[in-house]
Amino acid sequence: MSVIRITKEFRFEGAHALQDYDGKCRHIHGHSYILYVTVKGRPVQDKNSRKNGMLMDFTDLKKTVNEHIINIFDHALILRGDAPLAEELCRAYRNVVLVDFQPTCENLICYFARTIRRYLPENAELFGLRLYETATSYVEWFAEDNKTEDSHE
Ligand SMILES: [Zn+2]
Repeated sequence: MSVIRITKEFRFEGAHALQDYDGKCRHIHGHSYILYVTVKGRPVQDKNSRKNGMLMDFTDLKKTVNEHIINIFDHALILRGDAPLAEELCRAYRNVVLVDFQPTCENLICYFARTIRRYLPENAELFGLRLYETATSYVEWFAEDNKTEDSHE
């Protein structure tokens, strides 16, 4: 059976601020993020399986990414844990997500990759992610590029 890649698109609205940065993203503002998740592997070949012929049920992929990423980051304010007023904002609003990294698109995609990989079925591996921060800017993460990093995770 051939190796197949399947991709699902997700969208979420998020706000962030980049501490000590010298551009527009320094101050709190929002983005309409679009995340493409591509999974690779061989489809199940088992007539007795309910997932026969599928690499991964799109519904399961949707559920996994929604549960571990979208539900957490959608309409959230994403801040570094040591950002000014971070703790006060956390107390005042329910939708503040504190992370231990600068919440750039690059760092978010690495965090998303680590998270999604933990929840994929055995026959599927994460091939890559693409994360749009604006209509014309996106970052990509590919498993192929990060093989050496894997041994440290
Ligand atoms: Zn920004």
